[in-house]
Amino acid sequence: ASTEIDIKSLVRTIPDYPKPGIMFRDVTTLFGHPSGFRASVEQLVAPFQDQRVESVAGIEARGFILGGAAADRMHCGFVPIRKKGKLPAKAIGQEYELEYGVDVIEIHEDALSPGEPVLLVDDLIATGGTAVAAVELLRQLKAEVVGAAFVIDLPDLGGSARLTELGVPCHTLMAFE
Ligand code: IMP
Repeated sequence: ASTEIDIKSLVRTIPDYPKPGIMFRDVTTLFGHPSGFRASVEQLVAPFQDQRVESVAGIEARGFILGGAAADRMHCGFVPIRKKGKLPAKAIGQEYELEYGVDVIEIHEDALSPGEPVLLVDDLIATGGTAVAAVELLRQLKAEVVGAAFVIDLPDLGGSARLTELGVPCHTLMAFE
């Protein structure tokens, strides 16, 4: 079965990308592998299969690839959380901190209904800045964030712990130091 393959070995590490000292975890090799992608999506949604989830929200851009497949598997709708200025209809935004400066992500204000159970998906959680901003957007729409799922956790950077503190169960498939 696709769940028996070693998905961690399919993640490629690029040293010094995008700048010196960073070990970039490249999921294109995992996503490009037919059973690797399938196993990743399968494992990502597994803890939420028995829960009521009506929508999957994915964060641009790799969260769209995973989130679309996850939504299909869970028989859910898909809601995009995008970088500023990309959504066509009325949107709300949330700032989050980058290493230098700030960025903004947005969601359509009518993308979710109050009380709607939603699962947040992205490829990787590091400091959690992006995911925490996404949770704030979902909660501004009064959606119920049932959990957040990521292929990769960088636990030393504290993001998954931040989500847990916010009351969002955080599911990750592998960790890198
Ligand atoms: P955070 O906001 O610090 O948790 O960073 C997570 C965001 O940055 C996610 O949207 C990731 O796609 C992206 N990211 C950070 N580091 C990496 C990496 O090593 N590989 C792939 N994506 C990364």
